[in-house]
Amino acid sequence: ALRGSVAQFAQPRGPNLMRRTEALDAWCRLRAAHGVWQYARALDGAPAPESSVREEGGDASAGSRGVNFASQDYLSLASHPAVHEAARAALLEAGPHSAGSAVLLGNSRLSLALEQALGALLGCEHVTLFPTGWGAAFGAITALVHARDYVLVDQLAHASLRQGANAATRNVVLHRHLDTGHVRELLAAIRARDTENGILVVTEGLFSMDADCPDLPLMQHLCREYNATLLVDVAHDLGALGPNGSGSLGLQGMLGKVDLVMGAFSKTFASNGGFVASASHAVKRQLQLFAGPHLFSNALSPVQAACVLEALRIVESSEGEGLRDALLRNAMALRANLAETGMRCIGVPSAIVPLWIGNEQVARLAGRTLAREGVFVNAVEYPGVPLGAARLRLQVMAGHRPAQLRQGARMIGAAVSGAGAALGVEPARQPWPRE
Ligand code: PMP
Repeated sequence: ALRGSVAQFAQPRGPNLMRRTEALDAWCRLRAAHGVWQYARALDGAPAPESSVREEGGDASAGSRGVNFASQDYLSLASHPAVHEAARAALLEAGPHSAGSAVLLGNSRLSLALEQALGALLGCEHVTLFPTGWGAAFGAITALVHARDYVLVDQLAHASLRQGANAATRNVVLHRHLDTGHVRELLAAIRARDTENGILVVTEGLFSMDADCPDLPLMQHLCREYNATLLVDVAHDLGALGPNGSGSLGLQGMLGKVDLVMGAFSKTFASNGGFVASASHAVKRQLQLFAGPHLFSNALSPVQAACVLEALRIVESSEGEGLRDALLRNAMALRANLAETGMRCIGVPSAIVPLWIGNEQVARLAGRTLAREGVFVNAVEYPGVPLGAARLRLQVMAGHRPAQLRQGARMIGAAVSGAGAALGVEPARQPWPRE
C-alpha cells in the first residue's frame, strides 16, 4: 500500500470513461485499508491548534484528537469572536446566500465594502472578487491571455495558475523556480521573435509547498523591460506576513507596484474566496465580463464577505501585528525544534513549514504513524509536488502553544526516522535538484 503514486493513474486508458476510473479506486481502497489515505479525513469541530480528526473509510485507530499542523488558519481568526459576530450579523442582515453571480445581483453591501478595503491595503484601486482563490487564478489568466500569447510560470506555482495558463494558451513555459536569470532569458527569446503578442509572467509571493519568495522588484522590472505583465499570487502571505499584513509585496516595497495581484481568503482570512487587484479599471472590466469563475459562478455569500472584512480589519490592527508576531515566533520555534531532532525544513520562516522528505513512501508511512499518534500533518506528494519531492507540509497558526510545538516536533522527528529505518531509506539531506 505504500508503493506507487497517484501519477500512474493520471491518464487511464480505455474506451469507457467511467470504467477506466476503477484501477485508481482499487489502489486507493488498498491504501485506505492500511491507513495510508489522507483524502478521507474530516475535522470534527473548528480548525484549531488542537483538533479532532475523523478518518473515514480508513484506519479506525487513526480517528483522534491531537496537535493540528494541517489546517490553514494562519492567524487563528477562524475562532476569533469578532469574526463570528460579523458572520452572525451578516446572516441576519443579508441571509446565507448570494443568490447570483456578481453580474446578476450577486454583490452585496459587504462584498463591495470588501473590494474597497482590500484595494486600500494593496494600493491597487480595482479589485474583483471570486468565489474561490482557485477561480481567481484560473479566471484572471484565462480572461487576459489568448491563444497567441505566452505565459511564463514558475515551475512550482500552484495548480490553479498552471491550469489557467494551460487553458488559455499552448505557449506555456515553466521557468526554473525563483530563477530571474531564466525568466530574463525566456523573455528575451520570445521578444526576439514576437513583439505582437502578450506575455504573462506568473509567480507567488510565498510558495505554498516550499515557503520561499521571489525577488519581486526584479521580476516586475524584467516584465517592464520586455513589455510583459506580472501576476503575483499572494494567497499564503497576504495578512500573515509584512507590515499591516501587506505580505511579500509590503516586505519588498512593492505595494501598488505589481501589475496584477491575486490571492485567496482561505488561509488567513477565515473564509473562502479570492480576488484579483490592479491599478487598472479596464482590467477589472475585462475580468468582470470574461473571467468565467467570476461571471458564471455565484458571488461570495454575504457571510463569507463579512468574515473576510472583519478578518481584514483585525489583520490591519495592532492586534493583527501581535498575531503575526506570534505566528512567526511559532514558525521559528517549530523549525528550531525540528532541527534539534535532525530534521531539515526548507524555505523561510512563515506559516508554512515544509519538512523535506523526498521519498514518497517515507512521507506516507510517517504521516500514517503521526495520525495514529495524534499529530496531524499533510504528507504532500504528486500531484501537489513533483515526483520524488515528497514532504510533510506543516502549517503553523498564531494560536499554537510552545508545548504543542515541542511535542509535535519530537513526534514528527521520531516518526520520520522510524519510517526511514523501517523502509531502509536514508534520511533525505538534499532537496531535489532545481534544474
Ligand atoms: N493559490 C495558491 C498559492 C494556493 O495555495 C491555493 C490553495 N491552496 C489557491 C491559490 C487556491 O485558493 P482556494 O483554496 O481559496 O481556492
